[in-house]
Amino acid sequence: MSHHVNVLEMARQQLAVAARYLDLDEGLHAVLARPKCQMIVNFPVVLDNGQVECFEGFRVQHNASRGPTKGGIRYHHDVDLDETTALAMWMTWKCAVVNIPYGGAKGSVRINVKKYSRREIEKLTRRFVSEITAIIGERADIPAPDIGTNEQVMAWIMDTFSMHAGHTTPGVVTGKPIALGGSEGRKEATGRGVIVAAEEAAKLCNIDLGNCSVVVQGFGNVGSVAAMLAERNGATVVGVSDARGAIYNPKGLPIAELYERYSGRDGGIQEYKDCERITNEELLALPCDVLIPSAIAAQIRGDNAGNVKAKMIVEGANGPTTPEADHILNDKGILCVPDILANAGGVVVSYFEWVQDLQNFFWEEGEVNNKLERIMRRSFHAVQAAMAEHKTDMRTAAHIIGVKRVADATMTRGIYP
Ligand code: NAD
Repeated sequence: MSHHVNVLEMARQQLAVAARYLDLDEGLHAVLARPKCQMIVNFPVVLDNGQVECFEGFRVQHNASRGPTKGGIRYHHDVDLDETTALAMWMTWKCAVVNIPYGGAKGSVRINVKKYSRREIEKLTRRFVSEITAIIGERADIPAPDIGTNEQVMAWIMDTFSMHAGHTTPGVVTGKPIALGGSEGRKEATGRGVIVAAEEAAKLCNIDLGNCSVVVQGFGNVGSVAAMLAERNGATVVGVSDARGAIYNPKGLPIAELYERYSGRDGGIQEYKDCERITNEELLALPCDVLIPSAIAAQIRGDNAGNVKAKMIVEGANGPTTPEADHILNDKGILCVPDILANAGGVVVSYFEWVQDLQNFFWEEGEVNNKLERIMRRSFHAVQAAMAEHKTDMRTAAHIIGVKRVADATMTRGIYP
């Protein structure tokens, strides 16, 4: 957690705001402010040098009223139980905002993946899945990729779970390679959804997305695809960054080239020469039309939100903006399309992948992308309508929709027994 922001406190504050608008029952509010299940595991892995190292991992399920829980697995050196719980809670609202039949979950292992070999990551993944196997499953809780994990890790998760089950179970995890029951369009889905949300938001801000400047923080799965699609649409991407730092060129950066030739190198995009090297903090304050934070949480805070010069922010990352920053951005008239709407494209296509796996019947990429786009636009318009109805900002409007759907489902099912 950067700058000691308690991300779970952030998520709870956002819930409390929506609860006030909805006049939510106090007891139900207390239920929704807590996760239904938190699993903490400590497990050993034999490293390549023969030594044993112990790792800490978490799987948190927040709410399952609307269906099985769903959420990514993160490998990051700085993750903890509170942050994993916040991410699970946001997943619950996100699935409800785009109206797909899931509750929210999240998993994580505290590890700096760069320090370990492929074989060590494979062993760690297989052992972690074995430790949480009692609570995941294709009808119970379905993991997916997040920071530090990718298609290969998802393949190991699927294989490990299947070995225990005694038969191949592709529906237990999404974001798999296409050859193993993955979906066309899944890898690009989050970034693609971010750009669809940006297109809709641009209409509200009178920005021409085909002729504007864009800054993207984070050049991983979400950030690189968002930057690439923005460039393809005609925008000039003037700044991008990764964990090492940021690069800037007001005339534009060649995103496809950065992705293909630089992102895989040891030095990453920093090795590109025709640019100015700046910090991630400076990147967030660059003059631009659209800022797309796509890295980690709590990047735009009370102490730096005043420096943001973008006309709108579209959150590819989860929780990049703190509640203090939200107030400042709202006062400055900067539209912020919140994470639980803007980056929902990933879980939407994960849902498509799961449906395809359960049916053993696979769709073409065009069909996936069209269905994704329709859901993103429909959800955006619903949130826009809630903004107008409740005269509030977009994050609160999205929470009002998400929390209401979950609260209604919880009460209609009834509290067991
Ligand atoms: P990734 O691991 O592929 O990429 C993360 C990127 O962020 C990398 O470029 C990394 O160098 C950079 N980064 C890490 N720490 C940083 C820091 N302190 N400052 C600047 N950059 C930093 O991860 P991803 O899957 O692209 O996820 C990025 C964000 O998007 C996360 O917040 C994640 O929760 C969210 N998200 C991901 C998906 C998905 O489908 N992968 C879906 C919804 C939301």
